[in-house]
Amino acid sequence: MNKIKTLALIAHDNKKAEMVSWAMKNKDALAKFNLCGTGTTAKLVADATNLNITRYLSGPLGGDQQIGAKIAEGQIDIVVFFWDPLQTQPHDPDVKALLRIAVVYDIPIATNKATANYVITSSLLKED
Ligand code: PGA
Repeated sequence: MNKIKTLALIAHDNKKAEMVSWAMKNKDALAKFNLCGTGTTAKLVADATNLNITRYLSGPLGGDQQIGAKIAEGQIDIVVFFWDPLQTQPHDPDVKALLRIAVVYDIPIATNKATANYVITSSLLKED
């Protein structure tokens, strides 16, 4: 039997509504993962879906870095990160670091809804 994969959810403020609606639509698929996320995103998604989600710090307070560290430790398998391309973020260096570390460790990181839809329905999810 395959190990349960860990999936991290992160959404910038202007993308939170999109994240919540994507998570509600994909609730059954998400329920098959160990879920975690940055503080506010995790809370909003958990409230909307009743899914159990480990909450890290809010992104601007270090949550992105916590998730990046977990990727480096091999504890996160997939990231869904709806970042906002239209607004500068106070924690932009952390955002870049997270995107970078996901690429370093070859972790699937979906940065928009279309990609997230492909990832969450991928037949590769059945593989270890
Ligand atoms: P948040 O963090 O979920 O705590 O808002 C996300 C981010 O801004 O990186």
